[in-house]
Amino acid sequence: MLDAAIAAREEAAIAPPDLPRRDSGTAGLPLPDLYARVARHITPAEWPLHAREVEAIQRLKRERNAVILGHNYQAPEIFNTVADIVGDSLALAREAVNVEADVIVMAGVHFMAETAKLLNPSKTVLMPDMGAGCSLADSITGADIRLLRQHYPGVPVVTYVNTSAEVKAESDYCCTSGNAVKVVRHVAKEWGVNRILMLPDEYLAQNVQKQVPEIELIAWKGHCEVHERFTPQDIRDLRDNHPGVVVLAHPECPPEVVAEADYAGSTADMANYVGSHKPGRVVLITECSMADNVAVNHPDIEFVRPCNLCPHMRRITLANIRRALETMQGAVEIDPALAERARAAVERMIAIR
Ligand code: SF4
Repeated sequence: MLDAAIAAREEAAIAPPDLPRRDSGTAGLPLPDLYARVARHITPAEWPLHAREVEAIQRLKRERNAVILGHNYQAPEIFNTVADIVGDSLALAREAVNVEADVIVMAGVHFMAETAKLLNPSKTVLMPDMGAGCSLADSITGADIRLLRQHYPGVPVVTYVNTSAEVKAESDYCCTSGNAVKVVRHVAKEWGVNRILMLPDEYLAQNVQKQVPEIELIAWKGHCEVHERFTPQDIRDLRDNHPGVVVLAHPECPPEVVAEADYAGSTADMANYVGSHKPGRVVLITECSMADNVAVNHPDIEFVRPCNLCPHMRRITLANIRRALETMQGAVEIDPALAERARAAVERMIAIR
């Protein structure tokens, strides 16, 4: 099914964007309207607890001149009630450049906050929980890349945006799951090479490799602890138990899982696919909050929801967002010299259109 998945991906690439780069408009909405967005996930009895936090956060955002960037994997009560800009890693990186507010709160994981700080260094970027990391980011260090460069002299290094600023600083380009194919093609052409170190996500590199057979991608052994848990049998069971279901998989999944899917793409690609194809029944093989957040815009579509939660994303809560804005603690700082090199790798990626 992979060929069909790739063909579908290319078709969807021209579809109008849905989730990414959306001004979620939470700041202007009264509480009942915000509750309507999350009523499928939060009972009326639970809502007053959330509502107190939501009101406090909306007030603090005005007082601090702050915006909240929310990743697609955030819990629905954050994504739909307090986030001002939502999207995947690429969309949030692009939007971070344009933020005019004084303060950015990252409702995501640490590398995303670092990326926002790299791209808009004069802003205060707050992480509500500094422990919100990422198994991919933790899988590789700057020293690992320096060793790889000794082993593969002259081979350009493309790193996934899910890495620390220290790793980005050792890289030539960054990429996201949404633009990885485009970036490696660009780098191969620009550098006149047919070998690229693509780090650290082994499965993303293997899935991209299928689309660029003319380039040899040398991978690392990093994995996303959420996506690596899916198996091909899971997909077959989903098809048996939910006849007609359309299966969309994230390319951080093992290639055998992607091969079972109808379509493979980033979280933004998946959201666009749902919006443009409007399948009657769909399953998103990714972090399970994603389905909750996409479903808000598509009440007529049945979402099958196998649940693999990212423990790092779950560390962000309404309570610690409020606390970050109250105390202004948890500001992300990056050594300026390192930041300059890391920023260059991210900006080279963003410049590729
Ligand atoms: S879902 Fe995977 S890649 Fe994303 S933050 Fe969690 S561990 Fe990292």
